[in-house]
Amino acid sequence: MTTAKETTKSLVQKDRENVWHHISAYNEKNPPMVVESGEGAWITDHAGNRFLDGMSGLWAVNVGYGREELAQAAYEQMKKLAYVPMTQSHGPAIELAEKLNKMLGDDYQIFYSNSGSDANEVAFKLARQYHQQNGEPSRYKFISRYRAYHGSSMGALAATGQALRKYKYEPLAPGFLHVAPPDNYRRPAGQSIEEYNIQRAQEFEEKIIWEQKETIAGIIMEPLITGGGILIPHPVYLEKVQEICNRHGVLLIVDEVICGFGRTGKSFGHQHFNLKPDIITMAKGLTSAYLPLSVTAIRKDIYEKFDTGEENSHFRHVNTFGGNPAACAVALKNLEIMERENLFERSAEIGERVLKELETLKDHPFVGDIRGLGFLIGIELVEDKETREPATNARVAKIIGECKANGLIIGRNGDTVAGYNNILALSPPLSCTDEDVDFIL
Ligand code: PLP
Repeated sequence: MTTAKETTKSLVQKDRENVWHHISAYNEKNPPMVVESGEGAWITDHAGNRFLDGMSGLWAVNVGYGREELAQAAYEQMKKLAYVPMTQSHGPAIELAEKLNKMLGDDYQIFYSNSGSDANEVAFKLARQYHQQNGEPSRYKFISRYRAYHGSSMGALAATGQALRKYKYEPLAPGFLHVAPPDNYRRPAGQSIEEYNIQRAQEFEEKIIWEQKETIAGIIMEPLITGGGILIPHPVYLEKVQEICNRHGVLLIVDEVICGFGRTGKSFGHQHFNLKPDIITMAKGLTSAYLPLSVTAIRKDIYEKFDTGEENSHFRHVNTFGGNPAACAVALKNLEIMERENLFERSAEIGERVLKELETLKDHPFVGDIRGLGFLIGIELVEDKETREPATNARVAKIIGECKANGLIIGRNGDTVAGYNNILALSPPLSCTDEDVDFIL
């Protein structure tokens, strides 16, 4: 009989020999965890160690692990009807589209794909075709922000504003431009947050004008930059961007891949601000990552340009798995759970509590800033509070290691090229109990 320890050893070895892990080089001293199970906010590795997953995997498992109802929803749907391509339709896809429209509080047409990257690629293609069919065929460029992450495929990566993720794969998709995001903690001394945010928003307008506005198809942005370091704008920033988009005929694409489904304390992050996105992309929390599914929601008036009945005016895009019936059934059950357990309100409530209790850390010599919206918290570490010099790699890694040694997984975010890879991220399941929150604190 093999002991638990032996099983672990052989799995770790087999992993080393066969699996190519995402984003990081293999670390012999600190190999990737082999995770065995999950329950609530906690995961257990093969050796039986438990960790509170303060990152919900990759900001995704919003309802927490081990939800039998979700497994059951997938099981029932797979038994009844495992697959329909979205050239046709099926009940769960229809119901889910209707439900998402209710949550968006407006009328959108729902296009299904598999991942956040896919959803953003669809947004770019839709935007370009829309302008072609709306008498402005020269509009093909997109503007996004430095430090933002929008996905790993060639277009979504082109929109991403983190050079280190990109430079070995360039040239990526052409026509993607970037401006700096508002980073309120590092704004110039003496400038008010409002003034600074307006100035940063105006960078979009300058770019549009320099590039010739007739070439600009859209702006893509998250309501707040998540992976780039939890950069929360002042509301005037987004209002100004919206106004610039309206004035120049530029589509506003809002990436809700992380901010959606309660992460910021509302259904969608953009609902904190006075925004009317033309296109909204979502993934992760849509199914709480139990199955892959993503959505690109397109405003009806834009959709109508594709629904003219004219030859070749339809959207020429298909993917095999998008809108998979079991994934849609899981998404519906996932949204039902979130509603039943008031998880969006809970996210706002816990986030507020955590931010308040973390106030005590503000005097710590290495803590520069603490910020958050809903249960999405960033702690910016510095070497020196006066100069705001970012904390060294070693210091950030040590803190993350200490947290893990004490049973808490936290994230690390920012932008390596700019030297700001010094932000600790907390994005735990929204289903955290009060005891879980005590543990994190
Ligand atoms: N957009 C944002 C804001 C993301 O954080 C991510 C992934 O982390 C993506 C898009 C891409 O999603 P996916 O990894 O599902 O392709």
